[in-house]
Amino acid sequence: MRKYIFITGGVMSSLGKGIIASSIGLILKSMGKKVSMLKFDPYLNVDAGSMNPYQHGEVFVTADGGEVDLDIGHYERFLNKNMTRINNVTSGNLYKSIIEKERRGDFLGQTIQVIPHLTHEIKERIRLVGEREKSDVVIVEIGGTVGDIESLPFLEAAFEFKGEEDSCFFHVTYVPYLETTREFKTKPTQHSVKELRSIGIHPDVLFLRSKMKVGEEEKKKISKYLGIPIKNIFGVENLSSPYFVPEHLLNSGINDTLRELGFNGKRVDLSEWIKFTASLKRGREKKKVGIIGKYVTLKDSYISLEEAILHAGAKVGIDPEIEWISSEEIEKGKEIPKDIHGIIIPGGFGKRGIEGMIMSVKYARENKIPLLGICLGLQIIIIEFFRNRVGWKDAHSTEFDKDTSHPVIDLLSSQREIEKLGGTMRLGEGEIIIEDGSLAEEIYKTKVIRERHRHRYTFNLSYLNVLKDYEMDVSGRSRQGEVEIVEVKNHPFFIGVQFHPEFSSKPLNPNPLFVSFLKHL
Ligand code: GLN
Repeated sequence: MRKYIFITGGVMSSLGKGIIASSIGLILKSMGKKVSMLKFDPYLNVDAGSMNPYQHGEVFVTADGGEVDLDIGHYERFLNKNMTRINNVTSGNLYKSIIEKERRGDFLGQTIQVIPHLTHEIKERIRLVGEREKSDVVIVEIGGTVGDIESLPFLEAAFEFKGEEDSCFFHVTYVPYLETTREFKTKPTQHSVKELRSIGIHPDVLFLRSKMKVGEEEKKKISKYLGIPIKNIFGVENLSSPYFVPEHLLNSGINDTLRELGFNGKRVDLSEWIKFTASLKRGREKKKVGIIGKYVTLKDSYISLEEAILHAGAKVGIDPEIEWISSEEIEKGKEIPKDIHGIIIPGGFGKRGIEGMIMSVKYARENKIPLLGICLGLQIIIIEFFRNRVGWKDAHSTEFDKDTSHPVIDLLSSQREIEKLGGTMRLGEGEIIIEDGSLAEEIYKTKVIRERHRHRYTFNLSYLNVLKDYEMDVSGRSRQGEVEIVEVKNHPFFIGVQFHPEFSSKPLNPNPLFVSFLKHL
């Protein structure tokens, strides 16, 4: 019979619930279980696609074109498995489908209410994931914090679900350390568990997030006050990498707890995973990678990119140190640090900082610094080349200058008729055909690859001919003919890709583009 684990969070947000959910997923998978993941996000956006990365971090893109919460990226990386759009559901998405059903007349005159209609819809989405993926276990992460108005319907649905299916509850809380009295404070945890209980949910397992290791005394206290066996209370102090969490939990005895909760299977075997984490712990040569972009102040905006660089570093035996550089600062005259070994121009939207990116690409091209341009980065590479090599000073993208006489980057033809902005970009995986003898072929070692997209603009094919006389090659095209990869010859490593290689990178399966980039530093 299928089992369900609900993961809730207390006290505050950003505790790394997604990492704990993913770690449990990985451990159960290594026991031979077929594991599905599902994240509920309480906000009213229909999906994460329309959200500003400053507010909510990166928008992750699934192979099937879902624009989803960044936790889905963690699920993919930890479980080494691709998710789809059904693995992330927002309140907005739930209300949208209920309202559509209501308009269609599906409810036959009923009054539509949070209970039972919204809770029913939530439970259906949970069952859908389990059935569609034919899984043994579904791990359901409920976004937000217990006590938020927005989370309530999800907790209510989880409570109802408990009466219908084989479910257990894991709760992640925070245990602050008070410097003045030099002690951990357990009260916030007690309160958040009480809050959960008032809804009828009794957590089976607690994860205590903290700055430093929480002592046995505090665990005993929590155990006594809350009536949760101490062996089901796990301390998860800040570790130097989230990738260490699975082994940390395993060493703390999570497998016994899981068995007691009825998750039987093979002995947990994390050996593949630990090979990867061991390479993170090993001393490696440091190399500096400059990421020059727009959303560099909030690290979560480029989380998959950062992870992809880390995966590749573990594989190549390099310890990449990322320097985040705001392209607006470059525009204002900040110099690109001389000790940077390679530059990445990541994806982005909007005009701010574009000129600084163009300046950075020029610097990398002329000084033979390895450069990787991703999505917007590829478009910047093309604009820079036409401006400074071909000599068209006003070459631009129509995203930033509608009146340029050289629109070298222009809307995809499929985007011309689109009026609504939500969910309408070119999204998800597509095939890319690679040119013989190119750097791209050397990197991917195959002729056809599949990578994920998220863009509206593209290289304007009417300028393709011009490149024949220059050292820039188009080395990858989609089946429909769109330019996917460009590279510059006579340079150690200079490549731009219209897709997002960072979304498909996994710790156990790093993306070849980043591996090759690091090898060239
Ligand atoms: N703004 C560009 C476009 O829409 C690039 C998008 C991106 O970098 N994800 O095509």
